[in-house]
Amino acid sequence: MNKKKRDYYEILGVAKTASADEIKKAYRKLAMQFHPDRNPDNKEAEDKFKEAAEAYEVLSDVEKRKRYDQYGHAGMHGGSDFHQNQDVNDIFENFGDVFENLFGGGGAGFNKRRSTRGEPAPQRGHDLSQKINITLKEALLGCKKELKIYHFTPCEECKGLGCQAGTKAKSCNECHGAGQVHYRQGFFAYSQACTGCHGQGFSIPNPCKECRGQSRIQKHDKLNINIPAGIYDAAELRLSAKGDSGIFGGPAGDLYIVVSIQADTSYTRRELDLVTSIHLTYPQLVLGCQLEVKTLDDTVEILKIPKGCPVGKEIKIPGKGFANLHGKGRGNLIFITQCDIPTSLAEDVKQALLTYAEKLGNASSGSAGGITGFFKKFLG
Ligand SMILES: [Zn+2]
Ligand SMILES: [Zn+2]
Repeated sequence: MNKKKRDYYEILGVAKTASADEIKKAYRKLAMQFHPDRNPDNKEAEDKFKEAAEAYEVLSDVEKRKRYDQYGHAGMHGGSDFHQNQDVNDIFENFGDVFENLFGGGGAGFNKRRSTRGEPAPQRGHDLSQKINITLKEALLGCKKELKIYHFTPCEECKGLGCQAGTKAKSCNECHGAGQVHYRQGFFAYSQACTGCHGQGFSIPNPCKECRGQSRIQKHDKLNINIPAGIYDAAELRLSAKGDSGIFGGPAGDLYIVVSIQADTSYTRRELDLVTSIHLTYPQLVLGCQLEVKTLDDTVEILKIPKGCPVGKEIKIPGKGFANLHGKGRGNLIFITQCDIPTSLAEDVKQALLTYAEKLGNASSGSAGGITGFFKKFLG
């Protein structure tokens, strides 16, 4: 049967001017629709699936597309320009990148087909996530930490092949490498994971003794990591390819480090500012003063309290806060003034305070919030 070949643009349902992206999208849509997993034992769907793959193979290649636009099918050569009569499983291999995004990830949708050649397909290892605790001081200054992780690493014994030296994996006899078996019961067609190979499509007759054919082993590792100055709580640091190693030589996943900053008893973070309080006596606040203060990074700063300083005033030391991870500059170190109120006084101090109070006069400074502030007497 030699049917007239349909136009590639018509097959994909796109205009002759379609962009590469539109072509890819159109192909994905058709691949979804006519996917063999969705249409088991449907010859027509399989033909459409193959036809779309051929059209995509030509139109997704700039040079081939140019030639096709100029000469049509006459300018195309099966074999070199597209895979003729290719097997469904080969399509998955040839356009892995298209299907990777489409079916990849958590396996929603379809199972990606395995090779029919009995070779285990490389798969990317999982991303891992691990929490690390640091102090506020370490967040301010940056720090180096040793991290203990438990992850998969490639098996050195078999070089990630899963087989004993000199042996190879072979295609599963029961499913011929498909990983799935299809069967029919009355009107219904079923498919299920092959029990012979647990859906893998291959078997390893002589598994590596070290990894038991898994191609990788789980072990404890130590990593030295640098935490940058200015890191914020719940920040995620990504360490590329430090997660689980891939299966059968696939790429490793990433390791995400989630930073947890312990609360400090004296300092807090407010955006880029480092905030603390400074306890002063009443005369220090009234008369103003200079003090030496030791800060979180163990440096000593001179703090100037202005004359007549109210409680709750923020006194700033510029540039002594957190580094800005996303740009330049640093936040400030902020001291919030507090007044230390003594709960017991020496007799002479008390007399001095009473004398001072008399000089001020006992008149109330007024009332607030509807509460009468009329002065009656000192209690002490
Ligand atoms: Zn099988
Ligand atoms: Zn091994």
